[in-house]
Amino acid sequence: MSDLPALSHPRVGVLAVQGAFAEHADALRAVGAEPAEVRLPGDLEGLDGLVIPGGESTTLGLVAGRSGLLEALRAAVGGGLPVLGTCAGMIVLARATACGEDQPLVGGMDIVVRRNAFGRQVASFEADLDMPVVGPEPLRAVFIRAPWIESAGPGVEVLATWGGHPVAAREGARLVMAFHPELTPDRRVHRLFVDGVRARRDGTGRQAASGGARVGAQ
Ligand code: GLN
Repeated sequence: MSDLPALSHPRVGVLAVQGAFAEHADALRAVGAEPAEVRLPGDLEGLDGLVIPGGESTTLGLVAGRSGLLEALRAAVGGGLPVLGTCAGMIVLARATACGEDQPLVGGMDIVVRRNAFGRQVASFEADLDMPVVGPEPLRAVFIRAPWIESAGPGVEVLATWGGHPVAAREGARLVMAFHPELTPDRRVHRLFVDGVRARRDGTGRQAASGGARVGAQ
């Protein structure tokens, strides 16, 4: 029986150089993961997965760049460490930004993102998203100066859209959300991520690591 390891508590790092560490840590605990703060390159050792929270993507890139963490993140994500990036976390996981801002990125996802895409007037808003991958109930999403996905490669599966723009996507073990799933009581996004981390770590399924070839549908 390979069921027992699936009940284990994967160790999931949360990048804590800035942004909402505590809320992500609580959400991870709620779905059975063991959260760990990541501030320095060495903190990435022994992790089964990683969350890159929202905040300010330029600050995140600069601060992480100074300590060598940026390089370590590139190596970890490039090496297949499952990662969930939310808002600014989604931006740093992109291969590029639409306006070509000169800011350091981790990369790893075949997406181009537009920062502050919803404009100044609607900088922050909430919306009910259809995201069938987490179930039929709409997902309440909090957008704060959010990006959207401007374009995505063929290996990227779009999980949700808002106003015709992709705002959630998956590529292999990498999951990105333009909004803040840690700010609502709904834990389905963190559960989706941690289930994928467990499946990958414990070998209980390959679906989380295999990626999808579809764009849009779901
Ligand atoms: N607008 C921010 C950026 O460009 C992201 C905002 C957020 O993470 N809530 O980095």
